[in-house]
Amino acid sequence: MHTDLLSYEEAAELVAAYAVKSGSIRPPVERVELGLAAGRILARPLVADRDQPPFSRSTRDGFACRAGEASAHTPLAVVGATRAGAVPSGPLAAGTAWEIMTGAPVPTGADAVLMLEHVEAEGGHIRLLPPRTVKAGENIVAEGAQGREGDELLPAGTPMRFGQIALAAACGYADVEIFVRPRVAILSTGDELVSVASLPTPGQIRNSNAPMLAAMVAAAGGEPLVLPTAADSAASLDAALAQAAEADLLLISGGVSAGKFDLVEPALARLGAHFHFTGVHMQPGKPTVFGELSRGAGAQSLPFFGLPGNPVSSAVTFLLFAAPVLAALAGSWESFPRFALARLAPPVERYSRSGLTRFLPAFCNFGAASDLPPQVSFVPWHGSGDLSALAHSNCFLVVPEDAHGLEPGSLVSILLP
Ligand code: AMP
Ligand code: MG
Repeated sequence: MHTDLLSYEEAAELVAAYAVKSGSIRPPVERVELGLAAGRILARPLVADRDQPPFSRSTRDGFACRAGEASAHTPLAVVGATRAGAVPSGPLAAGTAWEIMTGAPVPTGADAVLMLEHVEAEGGHIRLLPPRTVKAGENIVAEGAQGREGDELLPAGTPMRFGQIALAAACGYADVEIFVRPRVAILSTGDELVSVASLPTPGQIRNSNAPMLAAMVAAAGGEPLVLPTAADSAASLDAALAQAAEADLLLISGGVSAGKFDLVEPALARLGAHFHFTGVHMQPGKPTVFGELSRGAGAQSLPFFGLPGNPVSSAVTFLLFAAPVLAALAGSWESFPRFALARLAPPVERYSRSGLTRFLPAFCNFGAASDLPPQVSFVPWHGSGDLSALAHSNCFLVVPEDAHGLEPGSLVSILLP
């Protein structure tokens, strides 16, 4: 019924534009303990409750001093000591130094910290060893250098990872306001599918897409809702689609190809769906469908993706198309999909020019060397149903539409999970 194919770039642009539009609608907000906030999206700006750092802090073990005096190499009398946790002291008298530990408040009057290993100590005095000199501000993070009380340190929409959690903790956030996760309905279709716990009879296979997509949804910040599997019949699909009405995003796997029992598109059309695209010049993932179901005047429409049922196709099209929309619905400002450059390692098969953008299972060795691009290699595969290839991959190698072949050693783009 809908046969126009878009190029991958056109489809990606449509999805990106939709994501921008969805991102302007803020999800509801909930409050969680800071310890449970990892992976969630900040709903209100994080504000500094005091200057950061709250006092001028030494970054070294050594001696607080006046930079000018120390650089003249005059011996300075050590008149006190401060460890981390002690209250700020001072003012520091002229011609003196103050022993200080990392993390301790620098006494007022001092403008630099000499490192322990850069001084000689004798008879209660220290002297900066020539020819070394020190500049004002050295080895000190000044009070408020990282932020002032009341400053917005992180905007709403920031994903909470370890660094953000540490900052929130430093600012006294025992709990944080985060966005409620979007509910993502996952509908698998196919007469051949049985559940994971079942023993398939001849002709049947276990439903692997539902758990796979649920894992991908959870990793992308959504709440997966796995619906009962629909059979390849109009009645079954109609009933199943009705169950997705409360979701924020609908993922349908299978039933979008051109076969006799690919009945998903007609079922969506019966519900009055508006289709943004119904096919993309890409491999795998050619029959991918993207559209919206209206929920009546004034209500947010329900975006849906029809993902081809082959597991590699479902995974690739989720990352490329569903993930950007899900991130936007989750209130995140991060953009998806994520690509990186890597160097292609042999062996390389010759890929004939296909006119399709390809995303092939690949394994990238990110740990090879810190001063070289990571090395990526193709994972041998038997087509887009090859679950073993999928499970041995950690990224997808992008073969452009017009590529004649990729040379070993060349820089290639990879799609990251
Ligand atoms: P379809 O997109 O429905 O034409 O299915 C394409 C291929 O993917 C067929 O071999 C299906 O058996 C397989 N497939 C469809 N849905 C799933 C699923 N949920 N889990 C595993 N394989 C599936
Ligand atoms: Mg099917």
